[in-house]
Amino acid sequence: MADIEKYLRQSAFPHIWCPGCGNGVVLASIIRAIDKLGLEQDKTVIVSGIGCSSRASGYMNFNTVHTAHGRALTFATGIKLAKPELNVLVITGDGDATAIGGNHFIHAARRNIDITTIIFNNSIYGMTGGQSSPLTPLASKSTTAPFGHIERSFDIGALAIAAGATYVARATAYHATMLTDLVAKGIENKGFSVIDAITQCPVSFGRKNKMGSAAKMMEWQKDHAIYVQAAAKLSAEQLKDKFVIGELHRSEAPEYTAEYDKLIAQVQAKRGNK
Ligand code: SF4
Ligand code: MG
Repeated sequence: MADIEKYLRQSAFPHIWCPGCGNGVVLASIIRAIDKLGLEQDKTVIVSGIGCSSRASGYMNFNTVHTAHGRALTFATGIKLAKPELNVLVITGDGDATAIGGNHFIHAARRNIDITTIIFNNSIYGMTGGQSSPLTPLASKSTTAPFGHIERSFDIGALAIAAGATYVARATAYHATMLTDLVAKGIENKGFSVIDAITQCPVSFGRKNKMGSAAKMMEWQKDHAIYVQAAAKLSAEQLKDKFVIGELHRSEAPEYTAEYDKLIAQVQAKRGNK
């Protein structure tokens, strides 16, 4: 097991998360992925938005920025444009990434900027008391949908692919080893990477939906996840109520900061020739 303690800011503890919250598992998977790739802490930037999961940046011993709600990708875009040599990771929740930050999310994907975005997807706004987010499953209960949520949720993987992300993957807190591997692959991709990390919020989502303890919620993750290879052989009916995990998409496209540097060089060369 990797010595992950050096990646944690001991002075920032104790953390704010509730007992059984999956955020710590996802955080551990991210730092194990960073350790696996041997990224230098001083050359790695963690940018987060607002919400329970976005507190993770404060616990991580890297260059970190805890930004405004939904705006993590805008700060991360600025950082990556100014210093493309840095490894830039974004930590965001399902509400932060796909509601308030939804517009920034699709445009970062469209640009294929070299940022790895990990969505801590707990199906709810946890910090503000359990309101529905765009990833809250249809018919589940929340404080804003006490009789059941009538809106369809985004398929965040399909959204990211349609918007132009070049690496898209999904795992869960239960599948933490796989999550580490997928985050590492996302970081290695030279472009916009999205990792949908399904995690449990036993307090704001689990309790409302009578899902039981955190351990039971992780059992739910195990029982409802289907590996992408197995899913390919199943019908839509067989996949009903399941979600697919693994590498969902990988493609090639020009990376934004590299294109920007090329453009600067072209313009400078032209001006120099005049
Ligand atoms: Fe975790 Fe939910 Fe508690 Fe937030 S409210 S810390 S997501 S268990
Ligand atoms: Mg959330």
